[in-house]
Amino acid sequence: MSTRTLQMTDALYAYLLENSLREPDVLKRLRDRTAELEFAGWQIAPEQGQFMALLVELIGAERCIEVGTFTGYSALAVALALPDDGELIACDISDEYPSIGRPFWEEAGVVHKIDLRLAPGIETLNALIAEGRSGDFDFVFIDAEKQTYPDYFDRAVDLVRTGGLIAVDNVLWGGSVADPANTKSTTEAIRVLNRKVQADERVTMSLVPIGDGLLVARKR
Ligand code: CA
Repeated sequence: MSTRTLQMTDALYAYLLENSLREPDVLKRLRDRTAELEFAGWQIAPEQGQFMALLVELIGAERCIEVGTFTGYSALAVALALPDDGELIACDISDEYPSIGRPFWEEAGVVHKIDLRLAPGIETLNALIAEGRSGDFDFVFIDAEKQTYPDYFDRAVDLVRTGGLIAVDNVLWGGSVADPANTKSTTEAIRVLNRKVQADERVTMSLVPIGDGLLVARKR
């Protein structure tokens, strides 16, 4: 028993995967394909994909945004949890990596739900606000360059409906946020975001120590 979050040993992590992961084969194969890439660590953990899919299902999400798509593992996990007429606006700066995921989206029968927008994420979010889509989304997942996290978060609060969720990835940043000697700009940006959301009365929130740390905030 423990009154604090457990340390995730290799053995315990293996147990968790073996006894809780329900990863569709198409997702598993996209994960294997992504593992061949230099930046494979940009992909979320499979148990995190499953958790995000649960959140999406829990709130009955129909319209979602993802900032930072990479090879599309999280996009696929979320799109599979959406109804057939669901919408996921996937933001990335280039098609280099999303093009790897697209055949898997097609195979899974969800490609029609995913609207890939190739531009800096902040531009796509600003454009959605300018189009009058504030409050129109159920779920926003933020997983792009860390220096922009506070701005992404504010745009996301604007774009989700009351009761909608915002999830922010990598908020424990490999544990570096707790190392005072680490003053890299990315680490500092994540610290700023964490403090900001903790104090943000617009949301109810929890920092979930899954994957690399997932901050979940519900718009009040
Ligand atoms: Ca990430």
